[in-house]
Formats: sequence, structure tokens, C-alpha cells
Amino acid sequence: MFTGVEIHSREIMTRTRPVTRFAPSPTGMLHVGGVRTALFSWLYARRMGGKFILRVEDTDRERSTDEAVRVILEGMAWLDLQADEGPYYQTQRFDRYKEVIRGMLDDGTAYHCYCTKQELDEMREQQIARKEKPRYSGICRDRTTAREGIQPVVRFRNPTAGSVVVEDLVHGPVTFQNVELDDLIIARSDGTPTYNFCVVVDDMDMGVTHVIRGDDHLNNTPRQMNMLLALGAKPPVYAHVPMILGPDGAKLSKRHGALGVDAYRAMGYLPIAMRNYLVRLGWAHGDQEIFSTEEMIKAFDLPQIGRSPARFDFARLENLNGHYIRQSSDADLLTALEQVLPHIQGGAELLNKLTPELRVKLVAAMPGLKERAKTLVELVDSARYVFADRPLALDDKAAGLLTAEARSLLGEISDELRQVEPWTVEATEQVVRAFAERRGIKLGGVAQPLRAALTGRTTSPPIFDVLAVLGKHESLSRLQDQASAGPRS
Ligand code: GLU
Repeated sequence: MFTGVEIHSREIMTRTRPVTRFAPSPTGMLHVGGVRTALFSWLYARRMGGKFILRVEDTDRERSTDEAVRVILEGMAWLDLQADEGPYYQTQRFDRYKEVIRGMLDDGTAYHCYCTKQELDEMREQQIARKEKPRYSGICRDRTTAREGIQPVVRFRNPTAGSVVVEDLVHGPVTFQNVELDDLIIARSDGTPTYNFCVVVDDMDMGVTHVIRGDDHLNNTPRQMNMLLALGAKPPVYAHVPMILGPDGAKLSKRHGALGVDAYRAMGYLPIAMRNYLVRLGWAHGDQEIFSTEEMIKAFDLPQIGRSPARFDFARLENLNGHYIRQSSDADLLTALEQVLPHIQGGAELLNKLTPELRVKLVAAMPGLKERAKTLVELVDSARYVFADRPLALDDKAAGLLTAEARSLLGEISDELRQVEPWTVEATEQVVRAFAERRGIKLGGVAQPLRAALTGRTTSPPIFDVLAVLGKHESLSRLQDQASAGPRS
């Protein structure tokens, strides 16, 4: 039978083709910390020509929801982290877990425990009174007979001597004494397997070679390694990644980024920017900040994961996002915009308006829009003028700008613009400049009323770009709407 020995995970491991996995519990949102470990696992598998598995750990039936599963699958697809295998669902593997438990009961690596809650409570109180660490005393370890009327739990027979050394790729060797480890319950009295045990069976059955997960799981690792060894399996290599903190070094709060990936999508971040931001959160490759997916795959390795917690910084994420927005082709940005619309406020309405003609206008507008936008939400916002229905609703500032004088100026300038053919940025600019000069007004004195009438706002991309994007007919119609509308009272 399996007894306590010194176990070193690194010596045991390293097969040629690594198998990694992401194993989220669908009990809430898919938060950034989880996604980062998913990304690390995916990158490592890609880099080493291995396999990346997605496993949904839904054993906690009360807290797991279909909605959370949907969010996980959607988030992974959005970030383009395709799994080579899965999704597997633990709830679909209960027969297998039970089979393994039967085997362990047969070979003595597990045993039935009949202790009642009351007995366990008393045991605990006495240990505390003796200033001992509360743990299961092991009374039932050698029990040979059942106790009448009690449905037993099943406990793993943890070694009582020796130690387990987790050769963690991030934290270095971490030693756990077996005497400190309880005999873990692996099946409840109703026969359902417990979380740590399911992880062990899955990692074994799925041939997982590298477990990359949050360091909140480090304390589970010696128990999992002991169980794997008891089952005759080789423990994988572990890399426990430090958690992500807020910019102030405190636990990451919602305000500072502890949000689900769906929230980042709705805030208008591009998946490529998100991936690039997350890969740098706790992992470094020299000073390089910007990584294409190929570069990331090539450069990524586990020993470069930092030991100290990374801090989340929205400003850096925004800068990266702005970079990727500017880098994107106009057509790709239109696609990204169409994809984000259902997820942002008022977006569905805009999506309904998207005719082929409007798409052409949006692509034409992109060069002017993408220079300033840090997020797709900002991009959509500054693109609103393209979508706007006539007569335009003016915001307060724009309305204030369109005085009687400005409106009569708009009438005159439209008469001149009507002569422009072909309708280009240069041609309209020339006419507007000449008009301003002739009238002895600064360019802004004409450009601002034009902007207000064409976009309904006092800020927009360069006004001659706006004229070109809207086209002659639409531009003149919008100008005419305001020129003839008369001053606001
Ligand atoms: N299901 C666990 C979680 O969501 C992860 C377990 C693991 O990676 O081993 O925290």
C-alpha cells in the first residue's frame, strides 16, 4: 500500500507533449484572473505543440449555473482561446469518479468513515482546547465493521509520514508535511464525489502534464499529488500564478478591474488587446509590451512568470486597446464594431440601422474615428453622426452654437458647397476656406456651425472628412435642415 515518501513533482514529470487545461467552476463570472491562467495554459500548449483542454468543474450543483457555463464558453470564444479537447463537464463523469472510489476502497487507499457531525465537532473542540491544529484524527482508518444506521463518507488515506514537495515553477519548492494533511473526504455520504477528488481523477484521465492555476490552489496541491500517486499516476508539473491585485496593491475590486470578460467586451476592448494586456500581467519577456499572437506563443514560458502579484492598470489596457484599434484595418474595425453593438447600451438600435450603404460610410469614416478612440465604445460614440437620422437631434452645445447668424451662414455656405463637383475632402475644404476668407471670418467660425449641423455636436473628426464620409446629398440635406430651421428660442 501507498505510504509516505518524498515526492518531487518536477523529477516525476516532463513528458514530451504537454497537456494543459483550464478548469473553471461555473459559479459566477469568468473573471480576469481566471482568463489569464487560461491564456497562459493555452499559450504553453501552443508553444510546445501540446494540447489545451477546457474542463467545466460543475460538481457544486447548487452554485453552478447554465448561464455561467454560457459566459465561460462565450468568453473563451471571444478571446479566441480554442480548446483542443472539451468542454468536459464533471457532472457527466460521476460514474467514473465512483468507479475510482470503489477501486480505492478495494485497495485500501480510501476508507469509509462513520464519524457523525457531533463526534467531529467534539474532536475539533478538544483539539482546539489542547492547542492543536484541528484535523481528522483518523479513528475510522482501521475500522472493519460498519456502524448501524450511518451512511459513511469516504476518506482518502493520506500518508502519515514524510513530506510532499511541490516543485512549483513559479514559487520554487514548497514542502508540506504529511502529518499536516487531513484524510480528505472524497465522497459525501450520499455518494457524490468532492471537488479535490474530481480534479485528481480528471487530471489523471486527461493526461494533464502541466497545471497552471491561481496560487489560491497551492494548498490543495499536496493532497492532489498524494491522491494521484495513490492511484499510480504521475503528478503533473505545477505553476501557481499569483493573483492579480488592484493598482493600489489591495485585493482587486470591481472598480479596479475585478470584472467578468463579458464586461470588458461591453466596454469595447478588442480581444487581441485583452490578450496582450493579460499576458503581460505577471509574465515578462524583456521590456516588450506589444505582442502579436505568434510572438506571444513563441516567447511564452512558465519560468518567466513572476512571483509577486501583478497589479491591474486600466490606463495601460486602454493604451494597448487604442494601439490595436489604430492598427486594425477599417474593414476589421467595422466587423469588431458590429460584433460589439449587441453588447453595448443603445447598440442594438444602431445595429438595426446598418444598411450596406451605411457600412460603406462607416468604413470611409474609420480613418478619422480610429485615431482618437481608446475603446470600441468611444469609436461607436464618435461614429454616431454617421447613423444619425434627419433632422439631427443637436446636443445642447451644438444647439447653442447655431445662432440665427450661424444658421444664415449655413444657408450661404450650402449654396456654395452645392457647386462642388467632385465631392472630395480637398474640394470642400477649398470652398469653405475661400468662403471664410472672403467673409473675414476665421475658419473655426464656419467649421463649428458646419460641425454642429452635420454631427449634432461640437466635437467630431475633422470636418472635411465628415463632409466626405456623409457624401454630398446627405451633407447638404443636413445643412439645409439647420439653415432653414431658424434660431432656437
Ligand atoms: N475549478 C477551480 C476554480 O475555478 C480551478 C481548479 C484547478 O485549476 O485545479 O478555481
